[in-house]
Amino acid sequence: MGADSDISLPAIAGGAPAKTTPYGKSKRYGDEELQELSEALNQGTLFYAHGNKVFSLEAAFAQKHGVKHAVASTSGTAAIHAALIALGISPGDEVITSPITDMGTVIPILLQGAIPVFADLCEDTYTLSPQSVKAHLSNRTRAIIVVHLAGNACDMDSLKTICREHNVRLVEDCAQALGCTYKGAPVGACGDVGCFSLNEFKHISCGDGGIAVTNDDELGKRLRLATDKGYDRSPCVAIRHSPFLANNYRMTELQGAVALAQLRKLDGIVQSRRRWCDELTRRLEYAPGLALPSATAGCDHSWWFYCMRVLVEEVGADATTIADALQKEGLPVSAHYIGQCVYEYPLFQNHAAYQRGEHPFNARTYKKGDCPAAERILDTALILAINEAYSDKDLDETSTAIHRVMNWFRSNHW
Ligand SMILES: *Cc1c(COP(=O)(O)O)cnc(C)c1O
Repeated sequence: MGADSDISLPAIAGGAPAKTTPYGKSKRYGDEELQELSEALNQGTLFYAHGNKVFSLEAAFAQKHGVKHAVASTSGTAAIHAALIALGISPGDEVITSPITDMGTVIPILLQGAIPVFADLCEDTYTLSPQSVKAHLSNRTRAIIVVHLAGNACDMDSLKTICREHNVRLVEDCAQALGCTYKGAPVGACGDVGCFSLNEFKHISCGDGGIAVTNDDELGKRLRLATDKGYDRSPCVAIRHSPFLANNYRMTELQGAVALAQLRKLDGIVQSRRRWCDELTRRLEYAPGLALPSATAGCDHSWWFYCMRVLVEEVGADATTIADALQKEGLPVSAHYIGQCVYEYPLFQNHAAYQRGEHPFNARTYKKGDCPAAERILDTALILAINEAYSDKDLDETSTAIHRVMNWFRSNHW
C-alpha cells in the first residue's frame, strides 16, 4: 500500500485526522468595544433615551440598510415581537412562517395570541417556498414572517407579490442574515419590518440585543412604543398613557455601545465568510454524495453557517454517520440542524402555550408530515460551523476531509 492510499484512509477507518491544526478563531471584542463602553459609562446614564449610544447605533444601522427607522431592543425575539405589536397582530390572526427556524421567530406569534402556520421550504435553498406560502393563505392570514436561513435570502420578489395581492404584512427575520443582500439591497428593507438579532452567536453581537428596521414612519413610531411599554419619550416629559399593550424591550447604553463598535466590523466579517464559503463550494463541487447549499437567485449570501445535505442513496450512509466521520476528522460538523421541524416540538404537539385556558392555536393541529420538504432537509442536513477567522489551511483541510470521507463511504457502498 502506497503513502497516497494511507493518507486517503479516513479517521473512522484508522487514518490520521485531516485537520492537523485548530480552526482560526478571532477575538470577538476588543479595544473598539472598550472605547465605546467607556464613553457610555462617562455619559453618566445607561438609559437609551438620555444617552447617545443606542441612538447612534440605530442611526448607523438604518443608514447601512437604507431605511428611515431602526429601533433597538433586547433580543432578536423582542425585535420580532415588537414588529408584530407594531403591525397590530391580534388573537386569532394567522401568521405564516418557516418550520426550520429559531423559536425566536415563533414565540412572538404565540405571545400575540396569533396562530403560527407553517409553510414548506425549497429543497435547495432551505427558504420558504412561495407556492407553499400561497397554499397556506386563509382569510385570517395577517402576516408572513420570512426567515432568511443561514444567511440566504428568501425569494422576496415572489413573496412580496403574494403579500401585496392578498393584503398581508411582510416581516423579515434577518437574525441569521445580517450583511446578506437581495438584488443588491440589504435584507430587512424589502418588507414592512426587518428584524435582526445581536445575540452572542450571530454575525455581530452585544451579548444579547435586537434591532428592527422600517421605512414606514407610522410603523417606526409604533416600533419604538412597542419596545418601551407604550411610553412616548419624544416630548421632554414622557407621555405614559400607553396606546396599546407593549413590553419593556429597551436596549441599554452598554449593549448599544458594544453593538456600535461591532457594526463597524460587519463588512469585514461578511467578506471573509463569503470568500471562505464560496471557495469551499467550488472545491466540493465534485465530492460525491453531497448536495451543496445554493443561494436564492439574486441573493449575495452572508453565510451564518454552511448547510449541506447528504444524498443517502448515493453514499449508503445517513447524515448522523457522515457527521460522526467528519467530526473524527476534526471538523465542526453536526447532523440535522434543529433536529425536527418546530411544529413537532411538545409546545405544538400539546398546545402547551399556557397552563390553563384557551390559546387560539389550540384549534389547529400540528403534525409530522405537515412540511415534507423541510423534514427531508433536516433528515439529511450537515451543518458546518463557520467563522470569519478561518484560514486557507482550514479550507484545504476541510475540503480534503470531506472528499476523503464521502469517497470512502461511496466506494464501500458500491
Ligand atoms: C437567533 C435567531 C432569532 C432570535 O434571536 P435572539 O436574539 O436569540 O432572540 C430569531 N430567528 C432566527 C432565525 C434566529 O436565528
